[in-house]
Amino acid sequence: MAKIAFALTVFFLMSMAAPPTVEAAPCLIVTSTGTQSGPPVFNGLAGAGTLVRYGEDENNCGALTLQFDAGRGTNMRLSQLGVEPRQLNAIFFTHMHSDHTEGFPDIMLLRWHLSGPKIDVVCSSDTVSPLGFTISCRKFVLHIGDAFIQSGEIAQRRSEDDRRLPGGPADLANMITFEPREEPQVVWSSGSVKVSAVRSTHIAGHASYRVDTPAGSVVIGGDASNDMLSPPRVTSTSDQVEKLAKGVDIIVHSTAHPVMGPNSGLPQGNFNRQSSASDLGALAKRVGAKYLMLTHLSPPIGAELAYGALKLPGGSLTEADYRRAVEASGFTGHVIAGTDLASVRLPAK
Ligand SMILES: [Zn+2]
Repeated sequence: MAKIAFALTVFFLMSMAAPPTVEAAPCLIVTSTGTQSGPPVFNGLAGAGTLVRYGEDENNCGALTLQFDAGRGTNMRLSQLGVEPRQLNAIFFTHMHSDHTEGFPDIMLLRWHLSGPKIDVVCSSDTVSPLGFTISCRKFVLHIGDAFIQSGEIAQRRSEDDRRLPGGPADLANMITFEPREEPQVVWSSGSVKVSAVRSTHIAGHASYRVDTPAGSVVIGGDASNDMLSPPRVTSTSDQVEKLAKGVDIIVHSTAHPVMGPNSGLPQGNFNRQSSASDLGALAKRVGAKYLMLTHLSPPIGAELAYGALKLPGGSLTEADYRRAVEASGFTGHVIAGTDLASVRLPAK
């Protein structure tokens, strides 16, 4: 009894002493830093990438800044958001395709130029493809500065400022690799924010991520598709991504529009290893997601060509065409059809 009275007194004194505080309101902002699908270029779209920012109203949700994939032009898009490369806390890769990775040297070189700090780089451990070659995010990161070392630039710039690390941009990377599994596993965390990953099918070593924060959650599917790589199959979406996405607020996912499908006359290999917009709508509905952000749209909105080279049989698509394809599944949440810098904020303002 005396103990309880003492505790109550301490609590009372503490509440007297503490200055009045406003309850900090946590918030999450998810932004497409690039929505181009595959290696082609179209209309200034940046390569695939998603920026996830978490914090409080007071710091504009920017206490923690995580980049998922970094395609062509990511640095340019980040600059439009007022995010400099030095502010990123970690970069995660879904897979080693250039449309998801070629903005990385740009980010790392500038970060090195500005003298760091180190950054966590999170991706799958080396994977030997059934075809015999090895997919290695680790080697990609380790060799990110090689061309600039060979050109002499790294030595030249270090002669101007020796705070720049001697091994070039690769010296800034703190590699964190994981073995992608069927079940979600936590691969990175900071305070109340955790990032989980699962194995998913696209190319060897492909992984999909989920970020959980006190303000909400987001799944970044990458280019995941079903383990069954071609029809007949129940769905083109990934069963593992579906597991990862149970109860999530936002799904960000690469997609192909059904017009690229079997009756289009287009080659089906690339179409089949993406999730179709309608199947993603169905997945979003099953897991109870509130937002579906389509990115890496194949074909891009307004493009006359598929895969940058083949004439689309029915002409170019609009944002409404993608929305309709999703809504055909019965999904009634918010649909965002891939434009660079499209954002979702939780809680909504
Ligand atoms: Zn891709």
